[in-house]
Amino acid sequence: MLYLALFLIFLAILFFWQSNRQRRQAGLPGGRIIYTDTRAWGEVEKPFFYSEMGLTGKPDYLVEQNGRIIPVEVKSGRTPEVPYDSHIFQVAAYCLLVEKTFGKRPPYGIIHYSNRDFAVDYTPELESALLDQLAEMRRDEYRTDVARSHEDAVRCRRCGFRKVCDQKLA
Ligand code: SF4
Repeated sequence: MLYLALFLIFLAILFFWQSNRQRRQAGLPGGRIIYTDTRAWGEVEKPFFYSEMGLTGKPDYLVEQNGRIIPVEVKSGRTPEVPYDSHIFQVAAYCLLVEKTFGKRPPYGIIHYSNRDFAVDYTPELESALLDQLAEMRRDEYRTDVARSHEDAVRCRRCGFRKVCDQKLA
């Protein structure tokens, strides 16, 4: 029994180490699990707009903490072990919009899954990765031969462009 417990602890440490290593290699923050009081969340009425990057978006909520404004993105469905990269970039985009709108840089954004909340640190590295992504998207906007960026058939099945996309997966 003791051996089984030790083995399970070893597996948990290995899994934790491996997921963190992969995340560091990808250059994205993993997100810290936090507790947030949803009663303090205020709904956002109008989308924010950052004309220089042609970026617009509306976080689900904003929460004020010690004079700082933190965007919150709510995600339904399965709670992942660590936030998906697309969710990290989405909350980073909201951090950028909040900074441009209010002139205050959020130290992090929150991703709220059904049974866990993650704080994603809005680091200069994440901001720079976001700006690269946005620049790439703008470059691709008028191209007709953009290659698919993933191998996720489920994502294609749920995609609104499925009917017109010649690269969709089964
Ligand atoms: S259907 Fe096309 S646009 Fe949509 S996710 Fe799949 S590859 Fe991307």
